[in-house]
Amino acid sequence: MNDVAFQQCMNPVCGARYAVDEVHVSCAKCGSLLDIRYDWDRLPRLKSLSYFEHRWSTKGTEAEGRADFSGVWRFRELLPFYRTEEDIVTVGEGRTQLQKADILARHMGMKAGSLLLQYEGLNPSGSFKDNGMTAAFTHARMVGAKRVACASTGNTSASLALFASLAEMQGVVFIGSGKISLGKLSQALDYGALTLQIQGDFDACLRRVRQVAVDAPQMGIYLMNSVNPFRLEGQKSIMYRVLEARNWEAPDWVIVPGGNLGNCSAFAKAFEELKELGLIKKVPRLAVINASGANTLYQLYTKQGLRWKNDWYDASVVQGFYATMDENNIHAHTVASAIEIGHPVNLPKALRALATMDGVVEEVTDDEILEHRAMIARWGFGCEPASAASVAGLRRLLDKQVISPDETVVCILTGHELKDPNVTVKYHTGIDMKAAQEAAPSSPPQGRLSNRPVPVEDSLEAILRAMGGDPRMLSGAVTAAR
Ligand SMILES: *Cc1c(COP(=O)(O)O)cnc(C)c1O
Ligand SMILES: [Zn+2]
Repeated sequence: MNDVAFQQCMNPVCGARYAVDEVHVSCAKCGSLLDIRYDWDRLPRLKSLSYFEHRWSTKGTEAEGRADFSGVWRFRELLPFYRTEEDIVTVGEGRTQLQKADILARHMGMKAGSLLLQYEGLNPSGSFKDNGMTAAFTHARMVGAKRVACASTGNTSASLALFASLAEMQGVVFIGSGKISLGKLSQALDYGALTLQIQGDFDACLRRVRQVAVDAPQMGIYLMNSVNPFRLEGQKSIMYRVLEARNWEAPDWVIVPGGNLGNCSAFAKAFEELKELGLIKKVPRLAVINASGANTLYQLYTKQGLRWKNDWYDASVVQGFYATMDENNIHAHTVASAIEIGHPVNLPKALRALATMDGVVEEVTDDEILEHRAMIARWGFGCEPASAASVAGLRRLLDKQVISPDETVVCILTGHELKDPNVTVKYHTGIDMKAAQEAAPSSPPQGRLSNRPVPVEDSLEAILRAMGGDPRMLSGAVTAAR
């Protein structure tokens, strides 16, 4: 066992600790989110971040360099929760780049050199999610998991399916009906995951997958959603690579789209730890950008002034907000399907992140997202709609003079342009390929490896049956669906 790392409840009143090789969806005592923490004093002390540079130069070509091949694990001293390097499940994720976007900067009214794009779409499955999946699969292997599952707006399922097939675990993905873009659906099917198309939206899928994990323990499901704190450990590496590309100097701003709010939470954790370890002095400011059709964080933080205070937050404000959403039957709706989320699971961690990084939260409309996506494609090399929320948000923050045009800004491009070709084609031609596909007559699949999505009604019994389980084996009290 690794006794330098442990899991800890983020609620300071509870603060329960769990061993790193236990499996928890949330704190067993109070239900709050868990953090992975380290006893840094018992680990070899890092003197400087430049320690990591030699790893990039060998690119994992040396016999013992398997982990160095990964843009996540070449920083492994900063996420030391695994037992041995044998545990590490990697496909060479995180070999991404920070690129100066001077032409785009000019079109945004910024100085050359001041706008940088971090292309996380260059990951093996085409989104930043691979950074987190490599870490969560490493934990899954440590605890002997055989079956892994997630609810997803698309990229999580693509990434899970890829890692599950290479780690030889069964992948099960829960996706909302008609909610997933073509590129992402095709990946889940291609990598061989059992793909359950639930009659509901993302929030319904997340509720069900958590239910299966908790109420049907005989299914042996290891949960890969962003409530999984190990994913955030891997996603810290996005910030390490941004720093590395800038000779370990922090930019003024990091701008990231906000969906389930795992990424922004991971970024703040990265900086908080680097500061604690004395490895950086300056922490950049954070801007989280919501789509205006899925703007829970914007409403709570910017409109209602909800803040992280004395290590906690006022949960009654959040409950009140959700109650109003439910009463008025409001569901998330945006062209940026990767951030089409009404109940972001990492909300408390995001509030903490905004405090750590002196953050702001902005919202952008679908039109702003589409126009900025097209600008990034024209003068960068493209991203999917959700990613463009970062640059659209930058535009708003420049207009409001929150960000000044000579500050250094890193926008995280979270997913690859080819994830969602329908949006691009529709933008340029007006033709809705998605509608055309749905109208076309279908013939049954013929391929030897054909893997059809399975439509499932939004009920626990139906889901268990689709997974080959027996609903009669449900353990005692079933969690009431909200
Ligand atoms: C998952 C995802 C997001 C949202 O990230 P969170 O960590 O859930 O806030 C944004 N963009 C893309 C492309 C994604 O796949
Ligand atoms: Zn707790």
